[in-house]
Amino acid sequence: MSIAKNIKRFQSELPENVTLVAVSKTKPIDDLMEAYDAGQRIFGENKIQEMTEKWNAMPKDIQWHMIGHVQRNKVKYMAEFVNLVHGVDSFKLLKEIDKQAKKHSRVIDCLLQIKIAEEESKFGLSKADASDILTSDSFQNLKHIRVTGLMGMATFTDDMAQVEREFKSLQTYFNTLKTNHPHLEILSMGMSGDYKLAIDCGSTMVRIGSTIFGARNYS
Ligand SMILES: *Cc1c(COP(=O)(O)O)cnc(C)c1O
Repeated sequence: MSIAKNIKRFQSELPENVTLVAVSKTKPIDDLMEAYDAGQRIFGENKIQEMTEKWNAMPKDIQWHMIGHVQRNKVKYMAEFVNLVHGVDSFKLLKEIDKQAKKHSRVIDCLLQIKIAEEESKFGLSKADASDILTSDSFQNLKHIRVTGLMGMATFTDDMAQVEREFKSLQTYFNTLKTNHPHLEILSMGMSGDYKLAIDCGSTMVRIGSTIFGARNYS
């Protein structure tokens, strides 16, 4: 199937309350433009430099989402244009995004990345640390960021029962947090291999790469 057909299929298949982020990392601009011409306006990248190059070259009504791990010293390169940072995993990073957003008189939306994978290696905050951030005074003082939701990545495994456990634990935490923090509206979870399960577990934003653009070549 072509990229355009894949985009159209997702547009008609996804529930209305679920936002599609087209994950275009490593893909050439021609591929992104094919998705753009099919109506896609939200793209996700995991490297700030690559995202900035694409932002420079492409139409300005695109919303750029940073979905990868963010190094604090690179925030300045995306502060002018990034629309949503999915992978915020420390208060220090939030502070840096706030500082750089201020320089551009912007407010940048962020998601707190929560560690849900049972495996060890993944980035993310513990639920306790995320709750501490959201209730701290120093967080209330950041006027140039808005935390609009949570993001999580399940373990990379064929064991769908495990993936479901991990998604459900994030859903439960999200729903609990929302009672005290009603401005949280986005639950970013689900990729090509597990987005259907993620939606069943309450995801409102799926990040889909290879099912739209084909397998990535990292060489
Ligand atoms: C690459 C990536 C995706 C997309 O993965 P696919 O399996 O190609 O859909 C989603 N989320 C994050 C954080 C990624 O790095």
